[in-house]
Amino acid sequence: MIDLRSDTVTLPTPAMKAAMLEAPLGDDVFGDDPTVNALQESLAARLGFAAGMFCPTGTQSNLCALMAHCGRGDEYIVGQEAHTYKFEGGGAAVLGSIQPQPLENAADGSLPLEKIAAAIKPDDPHFARTRLLALENTISGKVLPPSIVAASVALARQHGLATHLDGARFFNAAVSSLTSPRLSPDADRLTKTERDLAGGFDSISICLSKGLGTPAGSVLLGSRALIDKAIRIRKMLGGGMRQSGLLAAAGLYALKNHVTRLADDHDHAALLAGRLEAIPGLTIHGPCTNMVFVDVPSGTQTALAQFLKSQNILILPRPRLRLVLHLGIDTAAVHETADAIQRFYTTA
Ligand SMILES: *Cc1c(COP(=O)(O)O)cnc(C)c1O
Repeated sequence: MIDLRSDTVTLPTPAMKAAMLEAPLGDDVFGDDPTVNALQESLAARLGFAAGMFCPTGTQSNLCALMAHCGRGDEYIVGQEAHTYKFEGGGAAVLGSIQPQPLENAADGSLPLEKIAAAIKPDDPHFARTRLLALENTISGKVLPPSIVAASVALARQHGLATHLDGARFFNAAVSSLTSPRLSPDADRLTKTERDLAGGFDSISICLSKGLGTPAGSVLLGSRALIDKAIRIRKMLGGGMRQSGLLAAAGLYALKNHVTRLADDHDHAALLAGRLEAIPGLTIHGPCTNMVFVDVPSGTQTALAQFLKSQNILILPRPRLRLVLHLGIDTAAVHETADAIQRFYTTA
């Protein structure tokens, strides 16, 4: 099956499973799981943070961050298209009593500085207290322009706001910011790029279960004090896990072995976009790191998805398709997909 619905569909590789079975385990609610501790400490050190916290999902990791930064009646500034605002069940408002102040994302995915500045409320009892700016990188596969990120973080800081980055696909952003990431898997250069991208944020949430290919798990990074607060919140949210080193081991394996290979997914996205460009009637947007967006002729998406399913190819039927590349999709699968889409639109 060629599954292009998301990069969450990746299955653990045999080597990843072997690493999971060998992991030393303990009770992480007591702080006793050596593998969870190793994951938290090594990822924090890698990106220049003091501490980390392993969570079952990115939704929970983001929510722990929002609730650690903001209290009841506080407000966070966020993009209208951001995952924390749009795709997490309204958790910040429901569980955190945090008021979102959504802003329309610019075409490049960033939040315009003047809109951020205008949304920061003065200290006045009429207003919620603006506490936090939350960005997302990559957003819809796009890498945020580094200069805008730096200016946004500086603006937030100037107004006394904390900053959070939803880095679910942080490593896609890092790898695509490098030229020829595989030719010189130069660890120092990659680490510098990662630290530049992480730079200035008070907290970052990283997903291990997307392109990195683990079965589950995200890590929240921040200061020791912020993470201590977040651990209490995670417990309240039901995310205190016990022998979770079994999952953390997959994360350690992925951070070692699956980061530079994200460049393959980006190459496959470019290959797929190029092949689809040649099919009349389709409008291609991207490639954006590991994603390709395709506007299909009006009303054809459901029939296309059904046809592709009969060819063992899975997509989500939308007027603008989002095709996501990941470690389960090789070059042959990209060509098979493009061939099948071409057959559908040339015989239909
Ligand atoms: C997937 C994702 C998350 C977290 O999702 P979970 O399914 O809860 O792990 C958060 N932010 C972004 C941008 C994502 O793509």
